[in-house]
Amino acid sequence: MKVLKFGGTSVGSPQRMQDVSKLITADGQSKIVVLSAMSGTTNTLVEISDYLYKKNPEGANTIINQLEQKYIKHVADLYHTEEARQKTLKFMHEEFDYLRSFTKVHFTSFEEKVILAQGEIISTNMVTNYLKECGINALLINALDIIRTDKNAEPDLNYIKEKTTKALEANPGYQIYITQGFICRNAYGEIDNLLRGGSDYTACLVGAAIQAEEIQIWTDIDGMHNNDPRFVEHTEPVRQLYFEEAAELAYFGAKILHPTCIQPAKFANVPVRLLNTMDPAAPGTIINNDFQRGTIKAVAARDGNICIQINSSRMLLAYGFLRKVFEIFETYKTSIDMVCTSEVGVSVTIDNRNHLQDIVNELKKYGTVAVEEDMCIICIVGDLASDNVGFEAKASQALSDIPVRMISYGGSEHNISFVVKAEDKKCTLQALSNTLFN
Ligand code: ADP
Ligand code: ASP
Ligand code: MG
Repeated sequence: MKVLKFGGTSVGSPQRMQDVSKLITADGQSKIVVLSAMSGTTNTLVEISDYLYKKNPEGANTIINQLEQKYIKHVADLYHTEEARQKTLKFMHEEFDYLRSFTKVHFTSFEEKVILAQGEIISTNMVTNYLKECGINALLINALDIIRTDKNAEPDLNYIKEKTTKALEANPGYQIYITQGFICRNAYGEIDNLLRGGSDYTACLVGAAIQAEEIQIWTDIDGMHNNDPRFVEHTEPVRQLYFEEAAELAYFGAKILHPTCIQPAKFANVPVRLLNTMDPAAPGTIINNDFQRGTIKAVAARDGNICIQINSSRMLLAYGFLRKVFEIFETYKTSIDMVCTSEVGVSVTIDNRNHLQDIVNELKKYGTVAVEEDMCIICIVGDLASDNVGFEAKASQALSDIPVRMISYGGSEHNISFVVKAEDKKCTLQALSNTLFN
């Protein structure tokens, strides 16, 4: 069985929901379909939560009512029969009454997660009702019953496997099994989510759990491009990526994939195909276990990094210095992304600033500390193995006019990373595209 995931734009209007329904039923094969919320809805739910945090229930109510009007119109446009319309309208009224009920409670981060979950709950109900209206044998499986995280907020793979398998076994014979992306329960049974963009993660978790034939991520572009199309002109789709290459690109900012979604697919060795809902015949990108030698695949960029440099003559010829430095980050549960060392100093990047001040205070015991915020990690992915001579030189040549703060090379066979200031991100990406791909 295949697992297909459709993102926010792919289900962003009644017309798109109808197109997706046609696409998933055309071959008559049974499949699992993971859906995001309609595009813009999760952002609106974040805005509603924001008003509630700020203790402004009127502000929240205004946005809830506007969103409700939008969905009432969507219901009118999506269905052909009065029966399906009335059924979905009843569901919609209950949903929005439920959202309004939060304007009367003491608001916590738990309520926020519940509010954010409603986008996917609404979209999956709309599409399931539409499929049924079209005579398709469709079943909605509640993601809150099958997707759970553990005490470390990591997906609980055994639980997901057991629950997904049981849900399918208990309901055989359906053509389409629909479920919500993004939403889950945590180790305590509370409603939670897999972070923004998390529907990709759900699809890969479900695909790995059932050892799917293939996981397909359907979005608004024809696969992974060789550079970020939001910042660079003339990017091209990459036809094939090795799991590790795709994982690095996702982690380092290629927004088409959730940062950690490739891991479960990689471990289960289930290929992931990226496809374009707006152009279903386009070949897209296949991500699998084949590693193509000698090619540079793509460039990606991740914002919001902080560089911390610790300089100390005590590091010279000393052992144990790095351990002491890294222990400070461990104490504050802050993970380090990049590391560069010299005889008298070490530079690291982090993206979590929650304990920045505490970390800096502690580091000062060991040396002089300098912090630079708003840094961007630029990552080039491909075959960096030794026979691919000259690749680093090409990359460095592209960056000859750009002040580079850190370079990391050799940590993996697939990635070379540069740290530049956020203001230099666009020109760095363009320069790399011009030199590496054009
Ligand atoms: P969805 O809502 O379907 O999950 P996303 O907006 O999360 O879609 O991801 C698709 C978007 O990712 C594209 O529209 C594109 O702007 C952006 N993107 C960023 N980097 C890349 C890349 N390297 N290749 C393709 N798309 C990319
Ligand atoms: N709806 C969620 C978001 O906007 C999850 C997703 O689209 O993948 O982040
Ligand atoms: Mg996405």
